[in-house]
Amino acid sequence: MSIDTLDRDALGTLLSEQRAAYEDLRARGLTLDLTRGKPSPEQLDLSNALLALPGEADFRAADGSDTRNYGGLEGLVELREIFAELLGIPVPQLLAQGSSSLTIMHDTLVWAMLHGFAESPRPWVAEEKVRFLCPVPGYDRHFALLESLGIEMVPVAMNEDGPDVEAVAALVADDPTIKGMWLVPTYANPTGGVTSAEVAARLTALPAAAPDFRIFWDNAYAVHHLSTDELKTADALSLAAAGGHPDRVLVFASTSKVTFAGAGVAFFGSSPANVAWFKSHLKFASIGPDKVNQLRHVRLFGDAEGVRALMRRHRDLLAPKFAVVEEVLSSRLGAYDVATWTHPRGGYFVSLDVVDGTAARVVELAKGAGIALTPAGASFPYGSDPRDRNIRIAPSYPSLDDLSAAMDGLATCVLLAAAEKALA
Ligand code: PLP
Repeated sequence: MSIDTLDRDALGTLLSEQRAAYEDLRARGLTLDLTRGKPSPEQLDLSNALLALPGEADFRAADGSDTRNYGGLEGLVELREIFAELLGIPVPQLLAQGSSSLTIMHDTLVWAMLHGFAESPRPWVAEEKVRFLCPVPGYDRHFALLESLGIEMVPVAMNEDGPDVEAVAALVADDPTIKGMWLVPTYANPTGGVTSAEVAARLTALPAAAPDFRIFWDNAYAVHHLSTDELKTADALSLAAAGGHPDRVLVFASTSKVTFAGAGVAFFGSSPANVAWFKSHLKFASIGPDKVNQLRHVRLFGDAEGVRALMRRHRDLLAPKFAVVEEVLSSRLGAYDVATWTHPRGGYFVSLDVVDGTAARVVELAKGAGIALTPAGASFPYGSDPRDRNIRIAPSYPSLDDLSAAMDGLATCVLLAAAEKALA
């Protein structure tokens, strides 16, 4: 019963059915929110022990230093050891910092603009134009950050196995204004795509016209598996070194969705030269990160296996929510051919593509029925989805019942907008 095969009468029936369903939905007076990928209160409860750690008598780091005092720009080595194992980065090349990886990405970009990297001909801001490749759909805050710095964005498609590497190769080969690209390699936001080792090997080795071309490898969901298949991220730093571009990759990560969002620990990892570059600028901005917070995280985790065990408890709470999204979308929309969506094996989002030209209408209809969705186009540079079809679904925060109601309402809006368009 694909919508394309319906004649005008059948479409008219579908439209009136969905209008009636939508009026019922509105009458329910819902207030539901699927906008941001926030951990639910139950997930935050998993780390409540942090609230009492490290405890009054426990403030010394492994090397005996007093975490209450200034110092230690690189962060506690015992925490770096845990995440070195999880992220596959040698300890000397991994720094533990403040509570937000987005802040580290911001600072890295600002330093690149103001100072350039070692092999930059000049600071990026002194270039006539700086451009970045942006896999789409992607993370809205990455795009907003570039926009705030006047960096022009060039979209490339994000596939299930990573960005469209042919398109990337063609674009960077002769265009020296392309200085970098974003990439969320494991369980991309919002598609859940996982960059394969093959794609990573090509990206890290391909010839680039800009000598200081950088991949901003934001591994925000490195350990956020939704199944027992705990995928390992491609080892981008080793691949880049093997491919002759040891300084091409900058790795970012945090515990925002491991412990407390906004009160966790963020990490920066890269080649020895880039780490030295990062520290040469960081030393003017900080005397050292919050080591008390880092120590309490060490006490909570114990070791890398402690992080994995905690992430399995997150999975137990999150996987049923992703199952609800899949279930409602396939039972309500499957038959009509009005949408496709991703089936992530990790991360925090599902990417839903509705009929071209209807995403903004779906979001508007949902709002009218009390269901808040991320604005249509948010996952594209400048907030503009050229096909007006993509909607990001964030299922982590609402309860299962609320999520189920919101997804059912969303399905009604998708069908109604599709029927409206087909009859327009
Ligand atoms: N990177 C990605 C891909 C994200 O999805 C998010 C949050 O949603 C962040 C970074 C934010 O990380 P942090 O809390 O460490 O700043």
